[in-house]
Amino acid sequence: MIAAPRKAPVDDLGRLRAGVALLAALALLAGLPLAGHALPARLVLALDGVAYRDLQTLQAGITRTNFWGRTRRLQAFTATEGYFPVGRLISTFPSISDVAWTDIFGDRPLPGYQRTYYSAAANSLMAFDGVTTTMEYERQMDWQAQNKLVRAMGYLFPERSFRYEMHGLAVDFFNRASQPRTYYAYFRASDDAQHLDRDIFALLCQLDQQLQKLRARYQAREGRDLEIVMLSDHGHNHAGRGIRVRPRAFLEQAGYHVVNSISGPRDVVLPIAGVESWVEVHCDPRATEKLAGLLCQLTGVEVLAAAVPDQSNRFLVMNAKGERAGLEWNPSRNSFRYAPVDGDPLKYRPVLDALARNHQLEAGDFASAESWTAATMSHHYPLALERIAQGLTRGALNPATILISLDNRYVNDSWPVQQGSRLVDCGSTHGGLDDLCSDGILLSNFTPTRDTSTARVAGQFNNFFDVKDYHAVETGAELVTKPEESLTRILRDPVDRDFQQSPGEGIYLRIWSPQLAALDGQAPLTVAIEKLPRYSTSPRPQRLMLDQPLPLSAGRASERIYALPAGLRLEPLAEYRLSGWIQQPAKVGPLFIFSFRTSQEGRPVPF
Ligand SMILES: [Zn+2]
Repeated sequence: MIAAPRKAPVDDLGRLRAGVALLAALALLAGLPLAGHALPARLVLALDGVAYRDLQTLQAGITRTNFWGRTRRLQAFTATEGYFPVGRLISTFPSISDVAWTDIFGDRPLPGYQRTYYSAAANSLMAFDGVTTTMEYERQMDWQAQNKLVRAMGYLFPERSFRYEMHGLAVDFFNRASQPRTYYAYFRASDDAQHLDRDIFALLCQLDQQLQKLRARYQAREGRDLEIVMLSDHGHNHAGRGIRVRPRAFLEQAGYHVVNSISGPRDVVLPIAGVESWVEVHCDPRATEKLAGLLCQLTGVEVLAAAVPDQSNRFLVMNAKGERAGLEWNPSRNSFRYAPVDGDPLKYRPVLDALARNHQLEAGDFASAESWTAATMSHHYPLALERIAQGLTRGALNPATILISLDNRYVNDSWPVQQGSRLVDCGSTHGGLDDLCSDGILLSNFTPTRDTSTARVAGQFNNFFDVKDYHAVETGAELVTKPEESLTRILRDPVDRDFQQSPGEGIYLRIWSPQLAALDGQAPLTVAIEKLPRYSTSPRPQRLMLDQPLPLSAGRASERIYALPAGLRLEPLAEYRLSGWIQQPAKVGPLFIFSFRTSQEGRPVPF
């Protein structure tokens, strides 16, 4: 039951004032800035796609000679400025933005690795526009380029977009005089710039100068240095335009059908967005092993990993030479076993030998994730075992059956992207399992950082517990299930905990809006469900009245979760639109609206 907000009666006011005074005194004792007076104490800058080797090079300094023979020294983020040596932040596999940032902030896994993905429940390829859709990690940022035009411009004028991002951050940051928590900002043009072969060293030097100015202004105002954490989600291979791999033609020649939905062992779905150094393959599980063996022969493949059908947490790893190893994950101990069967596709035999010498191999030749992490941090395939296991299980809510890491001389892209990319300079990409694609950065000016990974970095910064609580300040809605929601690694919203503990299974509608907090908790929600596309002859939308929200924590009046009726049946494998209103006060258009697809059974598909 949601408690309706109430005004504090007069006799409560005295107690309220005493409480505020006590809190203020405690804050002073703890040396914390008081809300209403101080700028954020810390800046976390999420910098898309900055590679470890590039920032390491820049910290050491490089000398450049220009056309006229004059030399210039480039150096940034130095010890003199107070920065500690940059550390590695190993990406997910695939080493791509949405998956990696979601892991860094411990959010619920996304429906697919990319915004074009295959939904198993809907048996359909789904496509969302990468420019207009916003992922959870983006909503958690205090600042990011939200303007769609600006985001699209990043693909054309990345340097200008990067300067816009730096300027926007600087302006917005100094307007946050009443935000005592950390300020989180996300820059995406750093990644666009590298895809388009721009000079990342020059951009990072500009960023360094901008941050120096920001720190000086901050010091003058607050009397202390601004704490900065910079981190990135993956590396960049700087391998040039690349030769295009042709998985579609290759598979069709071998008698497979590249399709949008799977109805037999010869059907394969290949979701793709952009220019990448990896390939995701979805197929009938019965076809996995044969297909994996075949795909090893595709020109450009370096390493391939597949889920072993009907055996949870067992995987097959192969390389272009057809070498093969088994990989097993024990989730309860978080340990991994790498068993070369024929050759050594990951070149991990020396690592295995070292683990054995150091008595780090447990029963059955498993070693802990931490042992593997320490032993492979600077390997050509860093942390490969856990990244493959994660990638093929919970890296996305619809994981691929086969993931391929390409040789960096090759790229995977769709034909229209290939045609479009001829017009611009394509200089670099990422997505693979190797160190060039995978090694991102972790840098700070107030604490030495340890080499780490997307799954672990939050542990060095209090779990990034204070990212923006967007559920409290934005309006939105989604379909959720408990198994899916339970994959959220960092539980920040009390509603996530309440939801797991509530009785019942099935599909739920979660809604959030500041408007809800102002309403009676009992005000029912009216939902309209209509089939898409909509014609003038279409039947009227189906209406549901939801009036039994799940009991949630007091103080979260801006959120509600309703179970969808168990008997709700719609047309199978179709697309629908769902909109909702709270009846009070007067109707002023829907509170939210989104589309979804249905399963073979006619049930709504949450992901
Ligand atoms: Zn990225």
